[in-house]
Amino acid sequence: MMKVTLDLTCSVCGHQQFHLPVNSQQGSNVRCANCSAFKCKILDLEKALSAVNRLSARGQPAAA
Ligand SMILES: [Zn+2]
Repeated sequence: MMKVTLDLTCSVCGHQQFHLPVNSQQGSNVRCANCSAFKCKILDLEKALSAVNRLSARGQPAAA
């Protein structure tokens, strides 16, 4: 899992840092880094992944 700050807010505690799965073996759930609540999936995950792609866009092509 990788910890990132997103433009999302945990619905439980309001935290904005989340753990993202970095491969399919880790599933597709985004978890709050603070309270470990599962954020909902697809829509938020798309935002999350686009944020990750922005972070990783330097020097390497985004593997979208
Ligand atoms: Zn939380």
